Amino acid sequence: MVLRETRSMEISKQIAAASAAGTEQEADAGFMRRALELAGQAAAAGEVPVGALIVHGGAIVGEGWNRPIGSVDASAHAEIGAIREACQRMGNYRLTGATLYVTLEPCVMCVGAIMHARIARIVYGAADSKTGACGSVVDLFAEERLNHHAAVTGGLLADESVALLRAFFAARRR
Ligand code: ZN
Repeated sequence: MVLRETRSMEISKQIAAASAAGTEQEADAGFMRRALELAGQAAAAGEVPVGALIVHGGAIVGEGWNRPIGSVDASAHAEIGAIREACQRMGNYRLTGATLYVTLEPCVMCVGAIMHARIARIVYGAADSKTGACGSVVDLFAEERLNHHAAVTGGLLADESVALLRAFFAARRR
């Protein structure tokens, strides 16, 4: 996927340039906007629109979007796609120090994968009252008996994420 690679490199550079002068919040918003683009890719393929990406050392190292129907794979959530790509690219099954951006609160499976990958920080968009495992249904990161703890920030560009999800389900009902 040369085209996609070029796009994520271009965005990494733009965000790095912007955040050199700006704040971490501005960088977070830039990466989340890219995750929203990836969610749009899922919607275009008829999948529930969720997008995710992983940033390490200021650059995007993995991207994913929800595609369980297309890949005939129940585990093909956006976060899993991003983690797989980042691990391949980094040549390491651990992504220590990385940040994962995802447009929707991660589920139990994805939080498990995030923990195994040793991702340091999670930034998500909309809360998910049905499957959210970062506080909406359960909060696995608050579970002291699990040995990995990540910093979690929720609600970033949540309105944009919800709008994508609503438009997708509204179109399906028509
Ligand atoms: Zn998930």
